[in-house]
Amino acid sequence: MVSSTRTPAVFLGHGSPTNAIEDNECTRAWARIAERIARPKAILSISAHWYTRGTYVTAMANPRTIHDFGAGLPAPLFSLQYPAPGDPALARRIQSLLAPLPVALDERWGLDHGTWSVLLKAYPEADIPVVQLSIDATRPGAWHHQLGRQLRPLRDEGVLILGTGNVVHNLGVMEWSPHAEPYDWATRFNDYVIESIRDDQPERLFDGSALGRDAALSIPSPDHYLPLLYVLGARHPGDRALIEPDHIVLKSLSMMSFMLDDRPTTA
Ligand code: ZN
Repeated sequence: MVSSTRTPAVFLGHGSPTNAIEDNECTRAWARIAERIARPKAILSISAHWYTRGTYVTAMANPRTIHDFGAGLPAPLFSLQYPAPGDPALARRIQSLLAPLPVALDERWGLDHGTWSVLLKAYPEADIPVVQLSIDATRPGAWHHQLGRQLRPLRDEGVLILGTGNVVHNLGVMEWSPHAEPYDWATRFNDYVIESIRDDQPERLFDGSALGRDAALSIPSPDHYLPLLYVLGARHPGDRALIEPDHIVLKSLSMMSFMLDDRPTTA
């Protein structure tokens, strides 16, 4: 069934902040994904880098650009700005969709690099309002998936639901070599996630801690993994998954990204 009004939901593997100042296979894929989507009215971003106790939504009119990364990165990264407006009305709409869960309206956060490093490539004009929802670190995977389900109506209101993280994210064993072959465990877990998305079996992904050694090495902490579950929660039956790219860089960092879409013409 062709829907001309439902906005796709997207997960982007954001990788290193340096992608924001590079032009590579992944950043070009992010731009292509945006080109396939009718211009959204607003973007709701669930970023790995806003990992909190409790749930917050940004509610300011003009969110600041947060440079939340280490000082060793290239200087140009620190002067980048993503001056997209906020959307206080959308923040309140999210509050009501997630009720009775208490969702605090936040005036202090802004846009962290999980959000702006990908949006700089997908929507470089920065003229679409952006709201961020935090990830409650104290909750299990199934709970995050359920929140995604409750946010799903936003897709029929012109809102792009964006998860930004990495499904394999082990910085401790990463190797900064452009030609490094991925670890076997990283490839196996990345493939398992892709297969679960293709088969529309999100429940296989809820509990990373129950998925054995490959998962334990791929998800040493859940922050970069959980945004995936929000996007899968926002999936409608019949949505197809367009997965691109699907590869791992630096041995242990999956750049796998995908779009869920009900239109048959996008593959
Ligand atoms: Zn990150």
